Amino acid sequence: MEEDLLYSYMNFLNNSKTEREAAKNIKELLDNNGFKDFNEVTEVKKGDKIYFYNKNKSIFAAIIGEEPLYNGMNIIGSHIDSPRLDLRPNPLYNKDTLNMFKTHYYGGIKKYQWVTIPLSMHGICKDTNGNIINISIGEDENDPIFVISDLLPHLAQNQMEKKLKEGISGEDLNILVGNSGGNISKIIEEKYGINTKEFMVSEIEFVPSFKARFAGFDKKVICAYGQDDKSCAYASLKALLSIDSNNLKHTAVCMFLDKEEIGSEGNTGMKSNIFDYFLNELMNKKQENFIGGALKSYMNSKMLSADVNGAYDPNFDDVFEKNNAGYLGKGINFCKYTGSRGKSSASDANAEYLMSLKEKLDNTDIKYQFTEMGKIDIGGGGTISFILADKGVEVVDCGFPVLSMHSPYEMLSTDDFINGFKTYKMFLEL
Ligand code: MN
Ligand code: MN
Repeated sequence: MEEDLLYSYMNFLNNSKTEREAAKNIKELLDNNGFKDFNEVTEVKKGDKIYFYNKNKSIFAAIIGEEPLYNGMNIIGSHIDSPRLDLRPNPLYNKDTLNMFKTHYYGGIKKYQWVTIPLSMHGICKDTNGNIINISIGEDENDPIFVISDLLPHLAQNQMEKKLKEGISGEDLNILVGNSGGNISKIIEEKYGINTKEFMVSEIEFVPSFKARFAGFDKKVICAYGQDDKSCAYASLKALLSIDSNNLKHTAVCMFLDKEEIGSEGNTGMKSNIFDYFLNELMNKKQENFIGGALKSYMNSKMLSADVNGAYDPNFDDVFEKNNAGYLGKGINFCKYTGSRGKSSASDANAEYLMSLKEKLDNTDIKYQFTEMGKIDIGGGGTISFILADKGVEVVDCGFPVLSMHSPYEMLSTDDFINGFKTYKMFLEL
């Protein structure tokens, strides 16, 4: 079973490189497991499995528990967007014999990591007949891939003197897409059906073409693009699909969000009111709504903000405080707080909530660790936890330690993944 879970996770990663593809694949899994689109149901009752597919980029899934919604939900929130290179509105230009695309990076990347690696092109655009088409070029072995060039060492004397962050700049992230001079638009149209005049109103993302692979002699690490945060998304989804819907006390909810990597803004991100809308509609359809009902539900809810954490890296020993670092293979990773410096902008989980979770964990064989990200004064970060905490929900960050986080090829421990799946299942059934 554990091996099946790992293989299905790797398969999910290979087929879900963008938030659109992830949302679509999650919806498909929900459809195949008895979940119903909440727009198509008029009544909601105990044991029902419901989802809300929001603008093709985020999705909420719920199994309705015995207790009324105002008595609280058990929520797991993850995100399905990952750092990448987006196509600009006017991307195409020709430089001598070469055809190039301008990109705009999305999320926190180290730009030098994105040159000289195979990239694939994903997204939506219109074809020459005016129909919207889904694009995926570069995943199939017979597809071409796309690459950003880097300077040969022989001529890189000046570049090598620069700071690492300046060696490759945002304006240098231009992708080689052809060697056909003025003919390239015609080729793109004829071979791929993509209307290049529609690029300005399309959504196209370039992501690493790498497939998920086991790493190391013992195969205890999974290397893949986008494990921040599709690892937590998939583990929580599988946990939700594995619980007994007839014996659930509190309503179990999994959130799969977009735009976390750029601040959770917009109508597919956590800061919007889309979840409030879903909750209100559930309460309406369950005939238990009243003024202040959703707020009461939040006040009584518990949440795991399921997101990854930077793992201790032996190659960069000096940025970690070893007693409090997250280690690959030590189990699911709780962070009481994230933030930076003096806990600036941190969502700091309440001790009473952590005590109750630890007590439950200690009655299982689940391996867990309580950690911080790195040395205090070095940096920091955040997740969606504060957004729900602001509404009154008890929230703690709970995900996987990841090596080379935000790089094109992130590393995660198979043992941690299994422990995370067990943790999420236990939590949803509380
Ligand atoms: Mn994340
Ligand atoms: Mn991230």
